[in-house]
This record gives sequence, structure tokens and C-alpha cells, in this order.
Amino acid sequence: MILIVDDKPENIFSLKSILELHSFPVDAALNGEEALKKTLKNNYSLIILDVQMPGMDGFEVAEYLSGNNNTRDIPILFLSAMNTEKKFITKGYSSGAIDYIIKPIDPDILLLKVKTFHRLYEQNRELNLAQKKLQLEIEFRKRAQQQIQDKAQELNSILGSIPQVAFTADAGGSIDFVNDHWYQYSNSFAGFPEVHPDDAFIVTEWKKILSSTESIELELRIAKLYSSNFRYHLLKMVPVKENDAIVKWVGTFTDIEEQKQAVKRKDEFLSIASHELKTPLTSIKAYVQLLGRLVAADSQTKGFVDRTMVQVNKLDNLINDLLDVSKIENGKLKFDLGKIDFERLLCATLEMLRQIYPGINITRTGNAAPFIQGNAERLEQVIINFISNAVKYSPDSKEIELITKITASNELYFGVKDSGIGISPESHENIFGKFYRVAEASRHAQGLGIGLYICSEILKRHNAEYGVISEYGKGSLFYFTIPVAGNS
Ligand code: ADP
Repeated sequence: MILIVDDKPENIFSLKSILELHSFPVDAALNGEEALKKTLKNNYSLIILDVQMPGMDGFEVAEYLSGNNNTRDIPILFLSAMNTEKKFITKGYSSGAIDYIIKPIDPDILLLKVKTFHRLYEQNRELNLAQKKLQLEIEFRKRAQQQIQDKAQELNSILGSIPQVAFTADAGGSIDFVNDHWYQYSNSFAGFPEVHPDDAFIVTEWKKILSSTESIELELRIAKLYSSNFRYHLLKMVPVKENDAIVKWVGTFTDIEEQKQAVKRKDEFLSIASHELKTPLTSIKAYVQLLGRLVAADSQTKGFVDRTMVQVNKLDNLINDLLDVSKIENGKLKFDLGKIDFERLLCATLEMLRQIYPGINITRTGNAAPFIQGNAERLEQVIINFISNAVKYSPDSKEIELITKITASNELYFGVKDSGIGISPESHENIFGKFYRVAEASRHAQGLGIGLYICSEILKRHNAEYGVISEYGKGSLFYFTIPVAGNS
């Protein structure tokens, strides 16, 4: 809006008419005081100011305007009856845009000047707005940066106070903070502690490892400076994310040597114990079998011998499982793969299982199974385990369904479905883990929690996919898929 300040209403009228004709919104004041009051209330893009006015003259008004922060930038166009010298006009008003126009007014010149000032004012206003935005943005960034610095400081103090070796690294994996414990393992800030040669891939693959988007846990051996005593540590790396992008990694090394040694001792014990038990048990088994043949078939003693044999077989299976676990542990669970007739294997295993579980109705659906590349003895072990578990964990159901089919990607699919106690979802992930048992299962049957672990290791060596689909209280389906054997 343009403000016209003139003591003569007829002058205001003629100026207003010219400007309004060209769509400029116009306001008017009849003296300096009124003009100043209006500038406090409204925003003007230009003030057309008559120099000669009774009371406050134009220069005095301009001087007031220049002294006020809100009005100092409003351009002023002086109206003067005589050709006043420019230096005289600029008196008291030096900071804003300024010009003058001589009376009688030439409308073309007036419009030209008004348009120029108006444009100038608009540009100035936009510039000011942009500057304000920029200022806000700078302040926001400064605050954010300060917050990040504060957080980093806080994090570093926490990492400084923990007993583990701790460090932080930027998103690219370059270390940017280490705590004091770090220097027991490395003599430089950016130098990674010395890693055992067998675990050295961690250093060479460091960047690749950090391309993960989730927390990482790695076991590796590191040694203190000037020592060759490598101890197992758990390296845990946790990403710090901002807007889903990783900005930092927080890493800790926790000494797990004691746990490692304890697990090793336990594995050694299990291995020795199962080996030591196996030899006498094999003799017991042979003698019980012999005894079974010697006693009369219908005698009471035969009944006792048979029952003994059942228990001996259970013990034998248990020891065989423990031996398998220690073989897996030592990387010694090795077997050959060859072309096998899975249908034949399944039928033979089923016949045996039907004798063991006479009260259970094991049915089949799907198609006859194809030839596959595998190890018959080990796959039989998996089938027996899946079916025995189905029986064991279905106390109220006598129905088990076996499913065999060939998948679209030419694989054998084998599944064992029961209507037993089922497994809640949180256990699905661990069910194939070593010594894992669902707490609920212990109420129904005894076990060590190693059967499925051995199955998973056997299946892995067959390049098989395997898993469980189960709902708590509604039964389970354990399955695997193995590629169908080619012609070669
Ligand atoms: P074990 O049966 O000796 O405990 P497994 O490794 O064979 O060991 O099974 C591990 C656990 O998985 C079992 O303890 C049980 O909790 C659960 N599980 C296995 N099969 C079934 C099944 N068919 N139904 C319900 N739970 C099962």
C-alpha cells in the first residue's frame, strides 16, 4: 500500500486517482503526525511525502521514519514545489530509498518512479524474508549440531566408564573415539587391536561387515599390546541411526574367554562321556540280544529282556545323538551324498516306525517321492526325528500326516504334520538350536533338545531348506526341501 501525505486534500485526490487507476492500493494522511501514526499501524511499500506542510514538514517526518526500525526501510518520494537540491532533500533520511518529484506533477514520471520504488520494495521484502528463513535455518542447524555434540560427549563419557574396550566409528567405519581400555590393546587411536591371524578377515572385511544395517556380533581373538595371549572377545557393533540412515557405530569388545573355555570343557566332557559310555553299552546291547534269543519266547523272562532292550535302545540313541553333537562341534560330521530313492527310504523307515508306534495312525498325502542327492542313513535319522517328535509332542492325538511332493522349483518337499501341543512363534527361531527346548514341552516329554539341532546340521549339508510352521495348541508342521537328483 502507498501512503500519500499532503496537507491539501485536492493534491491527495489527484495523486490517488492516478495511482488507483494503475491498481496501486492507496492510503492518505493530511499531516506529518497522522502519517507517523499510520506507519505504526500499517505496512507501506512507499510514502509520497509533501515537503511543505504546516506543523511537521516532510523532512521532519522523514527523519522520524528513519529513526524507527519498522519504518526506516520504507522508500520516500518527496513532493516539492521548487527544484530542491538533492543533498538538501536527503537531509535526515539517509538509510532508505529516496527520490523527489517536482510539482506540478507529471503523471508519467510519477508512475515510473512509483513502479520502480514499488518493485524495489517488493524485492527488498522478499530478500528480507529469505534472509530471515536462512537465519532460522542456520540457528536450527547450529542447535542440532550442538545437540549432536552434546550427545556424542555424553556417549563418550558413558563409554569411558564401562569396563569393556569401547569405541565409536563414523558411518564409513573410521574410528573417531576410543576409551582408555583401548590403549591396552592398541597403541594408536585409529589402529585396530591385533587380531588372531585366523580371525584377521574381520579387519580386512571391516567395511563390508559394516555395510549391515543392524547390530553385529562377532567373536574374535585379540591380544593385549606386547602379548601373544589371544583371548576371545565378543565384538558388538550397534548402529546409531538418524532418519533411518546410519550416522555412527558404537562398538564394544567384551572378554568372553572364560565362557568360551567353559563351553569347550563342557563339549569335551560330553564327547569323552559319550565315547566312554558307547563301548560298554554296545556290549550290553549284544548280551541282551543274546539273552533274548536264549530265553523261551513265551516266558516272563523274555518280557523283561525285551523291556530291557527298549531302554538300552533309548540309551543308545541318546549316546549316538551326543556323539553326533560332538562330531558337529569338531567339524567331523561328514558323510557322502549319492543318488537315493527317497520313496523307498521313506517306506522302509515308516514300516519300522509303525512297529515302534503301533497305536499311531501315520498317513501319507501328496505324490510318491523322487530320487534325490543325499545320504540315506542321515536322512532316515531326520525322518525318524521329525516323526518321533510328532508322536512325543502330541499327547492327545494319534494322527500324523506325512506330505511328499515335488515343488515348482523341482525339489522334494517332505513334511511331518501333527495335531499336538504346537509351538508359540517366539520359539520358532530357536527350535533348531543346540540344547533348546520349549519350556512347555518338558511337561509332556523328556529330551535333551539336540535332535532338531542334529537334523538341521544334516539338512544344511544337503543344501536343504527346512523349517517349522506351528501354532501354539494347534499342532506343528516340520518340513524340508531337497533338490531332486539330476540324471547325471
Ligand atoms: P527334544 O525333543 O529331545 O527336546 P528336539 O531337538 O527334537 O529335542 O526338539 C527341540 C524342542 O522342539 C523340543 O524340546 C520341543 O520343545 C520342540 N518340538 C520339537 N518337535 C515338536 C513338535 N512336533 N511339536 C511341538 N514341539 C516340538
